[in-house]
Amino acid sequence: MTFKLFFILLALLPVVACSKREALESETAAIDYPAALGVVKRSGWGWQPGDTTLARHKVSKITIHHGGEEFPKDKDPVLYLQNFQAWCRTEKNWMDNPYHFMIDLEGGIYETRPIIYPGDTNTGYDPTGHALICVMGNYEVQILSQAQLAALIDLTAFLQREFEVPANAVKAHKDYTETLCPGKDLYRYLEDGTIRAALSQKKIGGVPDR
Ligand SMILES: [Zn+2]
Repeated sequence: MTFKLFFILLALLPVVACSKREALESETAAIDYPAALGVVKRSGWGWQPGDTTLARHKVSKITIHHGGEEFPKDKDPVLYLQNFQAWCRTEKNWMDNPYHFMIDLEGGIYETRPIIYPGDTNTGYDPTGHALICVMGNYEVQILSQAQLAALIDLTAFLQREFEVPANAVKAHKDYTETLCPGKDLYRYLEDGTIRAALSQKKIGGVPDR
C-alpha cells in the first residue's frame, strides 16, 4: 500500500464507523407501530446504539421465548432492559439484547434489538430469519397473566402482517431445540391452539384492538 492510499483510507475510517452507527440509530424509527399496541420504542427506554458487523436478515418466522429468570413484581423493567443490554454486550459479546421485543409483567411491549439483524442464542438453533419475542420472567414457575398473553398475541399479529409470516411459522423456542423455553405456563397457549385461534381472529379483524 502506498502512503497516499493509506492516508485516504485513514481519513475514511470515521465516515464508515459513523454510517454504521447511523444505520442502527435511524432504524429505531423504521417500524410504524399502531398506537394501540403501545410499543415503547428503543428511544423511550434508554437503549444504547452500538456498532455491528452482523449481516441483515429477512424475517420469515416469529419465535416466542421467556427470559428464563424469575421476574419479581417490584423489579423495574426499564432498568432491567438497560442492564441486560449492557450485560449482553460486555459479557456475551453480542451486538445487543438477543431478542427483538420484550414484554413485561404488565403486558408492556418494548422494542429491543433492531429487527433488521438476527438475534442471538445460547442454544442449538439458528435464529436467522426469526423475529424473537421474549416475555420477561420464568414461566416454568411463574403464571402468565392475561395482560401478557394479550400483548403477546397483539404483537405477534402485528409482526405477522408486517413481515407476512404464515401461521405455521409462529412457534416457541422449544419447537426448534432442546430447551424448556418459553416455560410450561406460556407454552400451553401454543399447544392448546389459543394463540393460533386468536391470531387468525386478528387477521380477519384487522388492527390489534388493544
Ligand atoms: Zn428461548
